[in-house]
Amino acid sequence: MKYVSTRGNAPVLSFDDVLLAGLARDGGLYVPQSWPQFSASQIRAMRGLSYHEIAIEVMAPFVEGCLSRAELTELVVDTYAGFTHPAVAPLKQLGRNQWVLELFHGPTIAFKDYALQLVGRLFDHVLKKRGQHVTIVGATSGDTGSAAIEACRDRDSIDIVILHPHGRTSDVQRRQMTSVLSDNVRNLAVNGTFDDCQDMVKALFNDHGFRDTYNLSAVNSINWARVMAQIVYYFASAVALGSPDVPMTFSVPTGNFGNVFAGFCARQMGLPVEKFIVGSNSNDILTRFFETGVMNADGVVPTLSPSMDIQVSSNFERLVFHYLGNDGVAVGKLMDEFRATGRMDMPQGAYGAMRELFEGYRYNDDETLAVMKVMRAQTGEMLDPHSAIGVAAGIRGHSYKRSTLIALATAHPAKFPDAVEKATGIRPPLPDHMADLFERPERFDVIANDLAAVRDYVATFAGRVRT
Ligand SMILES: *Cc1c(COP(=O)(O)O)cnc(C)c1O
Repeated sequence: MKYVSTRGNAPVLSFDDVLLAGLARDGGLYVPQSWPQFSASQIRAMRGLSYHEIAIEVMAPFVEGCLSRAELTELVVDTYAGFTHPAVAPLKQLGRNQWVLELFHGPTIAFKDYALQLVGRLFDHVLKKRGQHVTIVGATSGDTGSAAIEACRDRDSIDIVILHPHGRTSDVQRRQMTSVLSDNVRNLAVNGTFDDCQDMVKALFNDHGFRDTYNLSAVNSINWARVMAQIVYYFASAVALGSPDVPMTFSVPTGNFGNVFAGFCARQMGLPVEKFIVGSNSNDILTRFFETGVMNADGVVPTLSPSMDIQVSSNFERLVFHYLGNDGVAVGKLMDEFRATGRMDMPQGAYGAMRELFEGYRYNDDETLAVMKVMRAQTGEMLDPHSAIGVAAGIRGHSYKRSTLIALATAHPAKFPDAVEKATGIRPPLPDHMADLFERPERFDVIANDLAAVRDYVATFAGRVRT
């Protein structure tokens, strides 16, 4: 399989190069040149397979020419063996034909583990083959940092440095990062905001001399391999509920559009999906887009669902590419317009086609808490604030006569205990594998909000003699 950029002006790459490159050289995002196809009978044949068996079927065409089936199998089996539920991504019934897909049984109890645990292993595998080493640098407001650290810890070919705003992440989120004492992991607590952290990371990457000297790399949400690994649970959950003979509606609490775009990929590959419902919090740029056809960037306000507090959705460009008929030049023009003006008007034909498949609903914090309370009372299901938005949006948009609803739950309630307690009166306990999180020793370095200091730190760490 080969990959092309959404801006049409970067080299065509193979899977391993796309994995390591992240962003394309023309500023675009990589997408597969064509979609692997699964017929109805091939999908039917997935019934009864385990999560990792479905993962191999779904991902094999994307890594063809780069990983053998044996290599892929070994990586996938190793990845999901560490998850704490035997089904990996279990389904819970909410109503007649409405289900929740629990994507929080990985090491950091949020859905990002489902992709990043594999991506960490893929990086290590490809780098070892090439005799290379990278230093991953990233900024986090909470969720992504811990999932990335867990994915990269103790891997020979990777060092990882994660910046977080000192004193501004939740205790659970901080401890999930700082209690990892592995030699190849460093946590930097920056005396500043998340935006300061992100700006400094961007500045390090834009310093090409520095980036090349220390082989800086990233595992951010635009990485194609993350999207690829997320396609698997769309197939696995749909097949468990009768696909391809019953069409599904998926509802997804959405930030950067990576998760729901993976669902779109599954549909392109032949999975029958009637509709995708996008849930947003008060940072509702996507919901406004699906209402109007205009993407209009606004400020960001903090909410109870911080992993969806985004200004723009970076993966949306991949959807635009599809609906503009894979015309990279047209995509580049729209994106340039958006960057210059903060506004993007989708051509009417493309917008009309998107609206046949996507719709969006927004929930503010009070509405989110109310949903958490009602779901707990009616079904016993404890939902974290992100998952609650997905469930509420799904129930609102679902036509129960036409399809089965699968609402993606993206974080364990114990990851956001304050909000859950506020809504339900119950403080959810941490799952067994991390019950001692608050007794574990922490390690992090506090650092000034100063680019030179951070650059020196990364240089010293990446340049050290490894034992
Ligand atoms: C990252 C995240 C999201 C948003 O996912 P996107 O792929 O960015 O749309 C939603 N919920 C939780 C808990 C997350 O960590």
